[in-house]
Amino acid sequence: MQEKIVLYKKVADDVLAMLQQAHRVVQFDDINADNRAAFVTELQDAAGLIGASVKIDASVLDHAPRLRAISTISVGIDQFDPADLSKRGIVLLNTPDVLTETTADTGFALILATARRVVEMADYVRQGRWTHSIGEDCFGTDVQGKTLGIVGMGRIGGAVARRASLGFGMPVLYNNRRPDPTAEKAYGARFCSLDTLLQSADFVCITVPLTPETHGMIGAQELAQMRPGAILINISRGSIIDETALISALENGRLRGAGLDVFEREPVAPDSRLLKMPNVVALPHIGSATRETRHGMAVCAAQNLLDALSGNATRNVVNPEVLTPLPT
Ligand code: NAP
Repeated sequence: MQEKIVLYKKVADDVLAMLQQAHRVVQFDDINADNRAAFVTELQDAAGLIGASVKIDASVLDHAPRLRAISTISVGIDQFDPADLSKRGIVLLNTPDVLTETTADTGFALILATARRVVEMADYVRQGRWTHSIGEDCFGTDVQGKTLGIVGMGRIGGAVARRASLGFGMPVLYNNRRPDPTAEKAYGARFCSLDTLLQSADFVCITVPLTPETHGMIGAQELAQMRPGAILINISRGSIIDETALISALENGRLRGAGLDVFEREPVAPDSRLLKMPNVVALPHIGSATRETRHGMAVCAAQNLLDALSGNATRNVVNPEVLTPLPT
């Protein structure tokens, strides 16, 4: 049966065609203050919703009485409250796996860029300051052989650990709520408390999802436990780190640097003190942003939605309890 889908992100023509072949699609390239009211109005009779990077909470869902499925073009589900969706009988689907390796590449790019001061040194050349053979003031620090601490050893954390362990000979420590014997076997990773990880690692990489439990997980106290001269990398979500505390830890020289793909507020304010520090490499949330991966994510999300609307959702379901019929 043809139903109505609201799409709230620009996708490639072939992905749009996938959806249009089966259903009627109302498309928004993104949601902003100008079109938000129109977006909400379109939800009145929509059965499916697909997009990314927009908070979908009660203020939206209360206008969507017929909604049965939401497909997010992301693995992160922090824009949703899965328990509330389950209460409303709405299934939520996401796009794990397809973006894992690309996001891990971004993490490793930040590890190398911060340690070897790649952006700062490229600017040095561009500004015409390379007038003689460089001295110690331009030296970075080694990556190979240093200890990497992964906070959140899941799909992406594991892919970063693989690069570190097999490619750079780095001992890997990790913290999860539960140990992961597969990662221990594959990368020789060692499970430890967050405190031990922070006190022992030369590089700390955040790959834990943003949840009420992980919000502000790395604050002043945690930063103070990091080794002097350690480097912090965040490729998950900005709000996992207390940004004000991070700025202090960088300004007082406790940390050598930070590689940040994500921020508490995005886009980050152009006058943020983080952007004034040469030892901070800041990226505009490009974790999964390659043509191939973003296309793969959109195809995955479109298929997820088609499956859900036809009652065939078997993979990538965040709240499977919705699919279990209630006892009669
Ligand atoms: P995942 O496979 O679910 O891995 C997350 C890991 O975090 C799990 O191993 C989990 O292990 C651990 N974890 C969860 N809560 C924890 C807690 N309170 N304390 C310690 N560990 C905890 O997810 P993924 O696919 O790797 O994705 C991770 C996150 O990366 C996403 O949620 C998303 O926010 C972010 N991401 C960002 C970008 C970007 O563009 N920068 C791109 C893709 C993804 P336990 O369950 O054992 O605790």
